[in-house]
Amino acid sequence: MIAIRADLLDFTAAPRFGSTDMDGVRWRPDHWLLVGSDGRIVGAQADDPGPGWERHDHQGRLLMPGFIDTHVHCPQLDVLASYGTGLLDWLDTYTFPAERRYADPGIAAQGAARFLDALLAHGTTAAVVFPTVHKVSCEALFAAAEQRGMRLIAGKVLMDRHAPDGLRDDVEQAERDCEDLIQRWHGRGRNAYAVTVRFAVTSTPEQLAMAGALGQRHPGVYMQTHVAENQAEVRWVADLFPQARSYLDVYNQHDLLHERSILAHGIWLDAHDRALLRDTGAQIAFCPTSNLFLGSGLFDWQGAIDTGHRVSVATDVGGGTSLSMLRTLAEAYKVQALRGTKLSAWVALHAATRGAAEALGLGTEIGHLDPGAVADVVLWDWSVGAVAQHRDAVACGAVADVPAQPLHARVFAFMTLGDERNVAATYVAGRPVG
Ligand SMILES: [Zn+2]
Repeated sequence: MIAIRADLLDFTAAPRFGSTDMDGVRWRPDHWLLVGSDGRIVGAQADDPGPGWERHDHQGRLLMPGFIDTHVHCPQLDVLASYGTGLLDWLDTYTFPAERRYADPGIAAQGAARFLDALLAHGTTAAVVFPTVHKVSCEALFAAAEQRGMRLIAGKVLMDRHAPDGLRDDVEQAERDCEDLIQRWHGRGRNAYAVTVRFAVTSTPEQLAMAGALGQRHPGVYMQTHVAENQAEVRWVADLFPQARSYLDVYNQHDLLHERSILAHGIWLDAHDRALLRDTGAQIAFCPTSNLFLGSGLFDWQGAIDTGHRVSVATDVGGGTSLSMLRTLAEAYKVQALRGTKLSAWVALHAATRGAAEALGLGTEIGHLDPGAVADVVLWDWSVGAVAQHRDAVACGAVADVPAQPLHARVFAFMTLGDERNVAATYVAGRPVG
C-alpha cells in the first residue's frame, strides 16, 4: 500500500467547450493519493495517512491520471521528423521501408520495448497502437505491454493492396492471423485486440468485408483505422469506392463503425459523416502535430461538439512529431485557434484522460482518480527551466506585486510549455516504472 503526496488534478465530467470555468474539474492541492496492494486507488485525503503506508512525498508536484494516446504507430519512431512530404509520399518514401524491417522478430521485439518505454517516459500509460502488417510485430507489442502491466489496444495491420512487397497480406492469411491473435492476446493482461485496417486505400473490398465480419464475430474487440486525413487521399478513396457516399461511408458499408472504433484524423468530413460518427458511437482521434507537420488540415472540434460525436487526442507518431501528449495538446490549442475557437486546458486534459477512457469503454479502469480505478498516474514538475519556472511563479502569485492567477492560467501555461522533461515519475498499476 502506497500513498503519494502531490497536487491532484483530474476530471469528474466533461468540461464545457470554449470555457475555462471549473465545471467537471477536480482539484485537490497537497493531498495524498492512496493506492492499495492490488494497484487500485483507494482514495485521497489531505492528512498524512501515517506510517502504515509507504509514503512517496512529491509535495509541490502535479499528479494526474496517465495520458491515453489513442493513435500512434510503434515502428514509426524510426521515421519521426522526416522532411518534405505530404501523406501519400511520406508513406512511400519513409514509412513503408521502415515498417518492412518489422518482419524480423528481433527487430520487432526491440522496437516494441523501445516504444512502450518511451510512452511511459513521456507520461503516457495507455495507448491504441498500430504495429505493422507482420503478425510478429503485433505479438511483440502485446508481450512487451504485458511485461510492463500496461493497458494496450493493438492489432496486426491489414493491407492487401497499394503497398510494396514485404508489406502486403492476403485475405485468408490475414484472417487466420487475426483469429489467432485474438484468441491468444485479447483480454490477456491488460491487452485488447483491435481489427486494424490501415486505411481504405490499402485494403480490397474483400479484406474490408473480412475485417467487418471479424468484429462482428468478436464483439469485444476494437477497430482502428485512418479516415479523411488529406485531400489527395480522399480523392483516391472516392475513385476506388465509387459506390460509397463518402470516405467514412466505406467503413460503414463494411460494418466497421461502432462504439469501439477509433478513426484517426477525420479532417475532411461533412455534417452527414459527423452524424454517422455520433450515431455509431465511433470516435475521432485528433492528431494535431501530425496534421500540421504533413500539412493535412485543421480538425473541426467545434463541429464535433455541435454534432455530439466523440473526440480524443493522439500523437500519431511518426506523422506526428512528439510522443508528448502535453506538446500534442498545446498544438491542438493552436489548430483550434486557427479555426477561431479556443481549447481550454480543461477540455484538452480531459480529452487525454477521462474523456479518452470513456470513449474507449474503459471509464471504470483508467483516466481518473476515483476509488477503484487502476493507479496509472504520472507525477509532473510544474515547470522546467528558468523561463517556465518564472511563468509558473507568476501564475502562483509568487512574484512581488503580481496577483495570483486562476488555476486555469497555471495549468494552461504548464500544458503549453511542458513536455516529457516535466515527468518526474510514472506509475503503472501503483508501481513506479522507468
Ligand atoms: Zn496514423
